[in-house]
Amino acid sequence: KSFKDLGVIEELVEACDNLGWETPTKIQIEAIPLALEGKDIIGLAQTGSGKTGAFAIPILQALLETPQPFFACVLSPTRELAIQIAEQFEALGSNIDVKCAVLVGGIDLVQQSISLGRRPHIVVATPGRLVDHLSNTKGFSLHTLKYLVLDEADRLLSEDFEKAIDEILNAIPRERRTYLFSATMTKKVKKLQRACLKNPVKIEA
Ligand code: AMP
Repeated sequence: KSFKDLGVIEELVEACDNLGWETPTKIQIEAIPLALEGKDIIGLAQTGSGKTGAFAIPILQALLETPQPFFACVLSPTRELAIQIAEQFEALGSNIDVKCAVLVGGIDLVQQSISLGRRPHIVVATPGRLVDHLSNTKGFSLHTLKYLVLDEADRLLSEDFEKAIDEILNAIPRERRTYLFSATMTKKVKKLQRACLKNPVKIEA
């Protein structure tokens, strides 16, 4: 199967070509058509499976249909992963002028506030730093958010993020699409899944 067969639009198929992504990976073959149908998704997948593309492509396709700032938020357990996710969004969105902001610890808050002032379409964040900005950055809110991604959900919960995630869930619309990706399905991940996803479809890499 090709990206086109999965329902991916021309602009994004081209972006995949430019990245050297000739054929979709297994998780992409399963996730993309379901995501384009509007389903919430639980993906059991490791890093290296192509899971970032599996959620980034459908989010960018939806963004193209209804462009707006603060369209999607991706939560990542680590700074490094957040940066890699943003790089993939930017690479896939290079033809279509997608703006991303990365909100992670250890990097200047003021610079990040300025990047939020540019009204990015996609925010990739670690939970603690996102909560900092929701509380302290004037004019920043996620009340128009359409998509939430919980990436590496098992690690999002194993660290000290539970309180931050609660606060984030309270700051975003309940009417939204949610994708949860995790390498393992622990009790805590299942609990998070029940709190965040509506009638999700489960897929495996
Ligand atoms: P991920 O699992 O999302 O961290 O992706 C792992 C690596 O696979 C990244 O470097 C991606 O650029 C690459 N990748 C993702 N999808 C594809 C694809 N369909 N074909 C080739 N490489 C891919």
